[in-house]
Amino acid sequence: MGSNTHILWFFVFAGLEERVDEYESGTDSDYTQYWVDWFLSRKGNEYFCEVDEEYIMDRFNLTGLNTEVQYYSQALDMITDNLDDNLDDEMREIVEKSARHLYGLIHARFIITAHGLTKMLEKFKKCDFGRCPRVLCHNHPLLPVALSDVPYTKSVKLYCCRCEDIYNPKSSRHASIDGAYYGCSFPHMLFQVYPQLVPPKSTERYVPRIFGFKLHDVAKQHRHQDRIREDSHARIMAGIEGLQQQQQQQRLAIAAAAGSQKKGGEENQQNSNSKSPSMTTESGAMADVN
Ligand SMILES: [Zn+2]
Repeated sequence: MGSNTHILWFFVFAGLEERVDEYESGTDSDYTQYWVDWFLSRKGNEYFCEVDEEYIMDRFNLTGLNTEVQYYSQALDMITDNLDDNLDDEMREIVEKSARHLYGLIHARFIITAHGLTKMLEKFKKCDFGRCPRVLCHNHPLLPVALSDVPYTKSVKLYCCRCEDIYNPKSSRHASIDGAYYGCSFPHMLFQVYPQLVPPKSTERYVPRIFGFKLHDVAKQHRHQDRIREDSHARIMAGIEGLQQQQQQQRLAIAAAAGSQKKGGEENQQNSNSKSPSMTTESGAMADVN
């Protein structure tokens, strides 16, 4: 791994010398391309587009990033190929890491600008971000999206505008990219600007079947029937309780009425042996209550 890195750096520096010769008469901005080219050519960085050098050089676009990136000025110098060569390997590695992070954060801002959207659209058309794994999306191209704009929280996901769902990237290299380098808004911004790219809504749905029978429908029907049965049972139980309460109230009312009648008619009934209907009702009611 270490020797491979050295070999890589050898080629990088060899390439740099060539580029220096090539652009000897050019301006500083010509060298700006270099680190970005190297970064973009690295395996696993295929989701990144090339941020315009003018965008990086305009410090207004980088507002606030100095508080988010360690060794900000060295990292920016590295991205723009203005870094002093007198850094030791260890320090260069630290600055390199910061430069990658800084480029990612600048990238997230750039891709939602008009020119950034155009560049990402080209990548989308070439299916650089892969295709939707859902069978019924018929290999629809994907776009990178974040679940959080805050760095170091969530890795990048892939959004399919056909099924409006998100997926994990297949490759572990892509799956480890910080989502903050793309942002939550990017794909939706792209479709706002290019509404003609939004595909018609997919009405196709997968139907689970066992021996040709629609399993999903049967299960759904069963659940519906169970729910109806539970509801009606609950209603019946509530009705029985209500009826019992009602009956008890009626009996108490009748008993109370009978009591007052008894008081009023006591003298008239003093010599009679026959029971009044109200007395019968009273004793019957009392027996029922008990
Ligand atoms: Zn899809």
